[in-house]
Amino acid sequence: MTLPTIDDLQAKAAAVHEALPWIKRLSGCTVVVKYGGAAMGTAGFDAFVDDVVLLRYVGVDVIVVHGGGPEVSQLMTRFGKEPVFVDGHRVTDAETMDLARMVLVGRVNKTLVGRINTHGRLAVGLSGEDGLLLVARPRVDPGGRDLGYVGDVEAVDPTALRALTDKGLVPVVATVAAGPEGLPYNVNADAAAGSLAAALGAEKLVYLTDVEGLYADLADPGSLLEQLTVAEVEAILAGGQVAAGMVPKLTGIVTALRGGVRRAHILDGRREHALLLELFTDSGVGTMVQAEEES
Ligand code: ADP
Ligand code: MG
Repeated sequence: MTLPTIDDLQAKAAAVHEALPWIKRLSGCTVVVKYGGAAMGTAGFDAFVDDVVLLRYVGVDVIVVHGGGPEVSQLMTRFGKEPVFVDGHRVTDAETMDLARMVLVGRVNKTLVGRINTHGRLAVGLSGEDGLLLVARPRVDPGGRDLGYVGDVEAVDPTALRALTDKGLVPVVATVAAGPEGLPYNVNADAAAGSLAAALGAEKLVYLTDVEGLYADLADPGSLLEQLTVAEVEAILAGGQVAAGMVPKLTGIVTALRGGVRRAHILDGRREHALLLELFTDSGVGTMVQAEEES
């Protein structure tokens, strides 16, 4: 085994030192991180868990919101039900809602909580139904199709989250919401993350997904948009060129930034330590959206 040279060691020290101004800026702030179903099970997962724990230990109030759509579809298939989507929303009959709640709250949520807690007593899992964290109103399909138990976030009550972060705990949120008559409703995790970030007065909202960031043209890898303002994101949404999973992220970002959050990021969750690189180094990765043009 060769011993590290003094230069190697100093390069390591420099890398840690580079984090100091960023840690100073974010310590004591709230950061909402949405971890997408698309990034789950990729090489970046363990590093993501470590990054969340590191954020907590440097004094950031970190809240994890997770998806899990692919796992819901898998369980539906095992129960002989075919997943059907209308404009990106899963048609959710009572049985599907039951399966979705089982997978998201019982499995995906607990997997994340378990992994984070290998580092100690840190994570507490909850869903939008707990403490009326997320209240949904049924979504009305413009085409008149019956979407079942699909909702839009109508209200957010972050009391339960604050009770946890005030104790140094990391809330992990499954986005099943409380709907009319106490019934569970399926709300989009990206939209929920945006509403939660606004309600919490978060400093940052981060989406971890399975692409580098937002592309001007998804087919052109050279078209990554590194820096945008919220007004530019609104224009992109109005232009209608962005499809599928990116639309709810962009609307979530608009909700958050128009609601007072300073910055939002879309990062590649398959990459190890994407979160750490973005938050604690001088080099930005992915797409960053800021509230206003900064001079
Ligand atoms: P997640 O589980 O993280 O929510 P989604 O599959 O719902 O993942 O959303 C990410 C997907 O959005 C990408 O894999 C990509 O196919 C799609 N997408 C659509 N338009 C764009 C775009 N302009 N730039 C980047 N990704 C896009
Ligand atoms: Mg998605």
